[in-house]
Amino acid sequence: MKSIAVLGSTGSIGENALVIARMHPGQFKVRVLAARKNIKRLAEQAHEFRPDYVAIYDASLASQLRREVAPLGLQVLEGEKGICEAVQIPDLDLVISAMVGARGILPLFCAIRAGKNVAVANKEPLVMAGKLVMEEAAKQGAQVLPIDSEHSGLWQLLEGKEKGTIQKLILTSSGGPFFKWAGDFETITPEQALRHPKWKMGPKITIDSATLMNKGLEVIEASNLFGIPPERLEVLIHPEAIVHALIEFVDGSHLAHLSVTDMKLPIQYAMSYPGRLSNGCPRLDLAALEKFTFFAPDLEHFPCLRLGFEAAHADGTLPAVLNAANEVAAELFLKGKITFTDIPRVVEKVMSLHRLISSPTLSNILEADEWAREEALRFADLARVSL
Ligand code: MG
Repeated sequence: MKSIAVLGSTGSIGENALVIARMHPGQFKVRVLAARKNIKRLAEQAHEFRPDYVAIYDASLASQLRREVAPLGLQVLEGEKGICEAVQIPDLDLVISAMVGARGILPLFCAIRAGKNVAVANKEPLVMAGKLVMEEAAKQGAQVLPIDSEHSGLWQLLEGKEKGTIQKLILTSSGGPFFKWAGDFETITPEQALRHPKWKMGPKITIDSATLMNKGLEVIEASNLFGIPPERLEVLIHPEAIVHALIEFVDGSHLAHLSVTDMKLPIQYAMSYPGRLSNGCPRLDLAALEKFTFFAPDLEHFPCLRLGFEAAHADGTLPAVLNAANEVAAELFLKGKITFTDIPRVVEKVMSLHRLISSPTLSNILEADEWAREEALRFADLARVSL
């Protein structure tokens, strides 16, 4: 029986992690549930899974949550500090880190510092502070297990391989809703961008998938997770979204990871690792597929991917700046305040204004994050005035 904490339990990854826990009774004990603000759903989950702790990020909702879960006799913790406290409890085997955006970073560090194994679904910590995360995990003997599907694929492919035998890591992208888009990119609406052809995900990551910023962030994430420099990472567009990752060996041989597009698979592997559990998930039917296609990415229409590679090369505080500026820009786009093509414009502008710190501390990174958010808002405002 593994004791788990689910941070971001009311989001799409968190809900799926709980589906896995429900699917395998006797395998997982949910001891901590944490969410940002959806106390109604959090309380329902608490009633079902009976954890020892529930934590709410938005501290102003704590008293309401306490009333909702009062009959359960569990502990309610609040704010970032409360979540940090919850992940440090003894005998916790795995912390699933799935809080959207940069707010997951401190709880993740708290878990690693306490020597807990972490399954990371939110890519921001691995993008912003990936090297620090990996260093700290190595120091504490904690495992960092990826949930992001491409990284889960790479992780499964790389297991047991000598690093010196690896030539290249290849991540695939379905291309999102605007692969081979014939229309004007400037006029793309949030509704269009939210219609992802292959994956059902939260709104922020769906926008990132439409701009290909998601893949840019994933390049940085992969480089940090596996200690492979960005020049040995490649992105391929693969609209069928069956092959999630490939590795190329120095002798020219390739291995590929294939599965249906269901986030439950990478989530379950991180939860069951090093074992595997059978499940009722849909199976891959290769014979029913007519073809597999692969394309080089179109960096002209999707400059976010180029910016991702640039930030990966520059490293230091630049990935945090890219991530923060993008978070602001994606949000403004979702609210209808800037256009689709303004997203990379805002990000590139903020990156160009940043004074890079090459070997940053966590506080340097958090400062760069804050700075980039302000700059992105300021620049987006200017862009709006000139529209
Ligand atoms: Mg992914």
